Amino acid sequence: MSVPPPVTRVQPLVVRTRAALRTALEAPAGTAAGAPEGAAPSGTAGPRPDAPPRTAARAVVMTMGALHDGHLQLVRAARERVGPAGQVVVTVFVNPLQFGPDEDLDRYPRDLDADVALLAGLDEPAPGRPAVDLVFAPSVEEMYPGGDPIVRVTSGRIGTVLEGAFRPGHFDGVLTVVLKLLHLTRPDVAFYGEKDAQQLLAIRRMVADLNVDVEVVGVPIVRDDDGLALSSRNAYLSAQERADALTLSRALRAGAAAAAAGQGGAGAIEVASGMLNEHPGVVVDYLALVDPTTVDDLEPEYVGPALLLVAARVGSTRLIDNLAVDVAPPVTRTARPGGTQ
Ligand code: AMP
Repeated sequence: MSVPPPVTRVQPLVVRTRAALRTALEAPAGTAAGAPEGAAPSGTAGPRPDAPPRTAARAVVMTMGALHDGHLQLVRAARERVGPAGQVVVTVFVNPLQFGPDEDLDRYPRDLDADVALLAGLDEPAPGRPAVDLVFAPSVEEMYPGGDPIVRVTSGRIGTVLEGAFRPGHFDGVLTVVLKLLHLTRPDVAFYGEKDAQQLLAIRRMVADLNVDVEVVGVPIVRDDDGLALSSRNAYLSAQERADALTLSRALRAGAAAAAAGQGGAGAIEVASGMLNEHPGVVVDYLALVDPTTVDDLEPEYVGPALLLVAARVGSTRLIDNLAVDVAPPVTRTARPGGTQ
């Protein structure tokens, strides 16, 4: 009986510095960033002198780590888009600029080895090609070598409503790091989750308003079987809190059903907030039905596509969720001819 040779999976190359990232990005597919682990020490890979220049598309997925299937879905979409010859770059960086003074920057879960193992376990797009070519996981000093940046991106009105109202400066911090990471990784296409709908909108606006040469793609929310939107912060929840947290997605679905049944935007909010208020363990920051392309408020008689958003604290954990809603025309009772009602 012969023992089959061990399968050596091609690992993503992990780089920690901007210089190593620049070198690895220039490596043709299947050489540096695609080399088996051990063949090219982390951060030292370079293109072969005779290698042709890279021509296939490059996709980037930006994360704060503590990866789950929501992040992996972005990676799958990125690989699907650029094909086996393309380059998929995942960034892992917990950006201090987007955390408020009382937020969870210090306790945010960090485990780069586990993240890389998850990415390495994704289906290969072709034999010997990793799903992710490159993981860029810089330190805070590497991203902000001069300390806090003086010049930053301003998210404008988008950054002052909903999430922005509860997290002042959050979207400026997000957009600043996103623009820096776009400059560093120079992708053709960048993938972001609809889970952070307001963030996705702010990034789209930044890219349009500042003529950033990248295509932005939104990826639908990945949920657990029971409806809870996957989030790195779900790891903070106790069993009871996790049960309470289910109210968020349930309330959104009930609100969406009410809107679709002709109860209007106000009806959707009433139904959803009624459900949320039944749970003392859930403290709502905001519940809003907005224009999905601007996050502007809607007129009371609005009919058409909308976005129902919620943010709530469950114990000490702050969660967000959202759902696309179709606000149907109001149901009007018409008197039957000859009837008595
Ligand atoms: P984060 O690590 O939380 O900054 O998220 C990194 C990216 O993954 C962002 O574009 C998020 O919107 C996206 N993301 C996080 N959770 C989910 C989810 N459950 N479904 C889809 N995308 C997600």
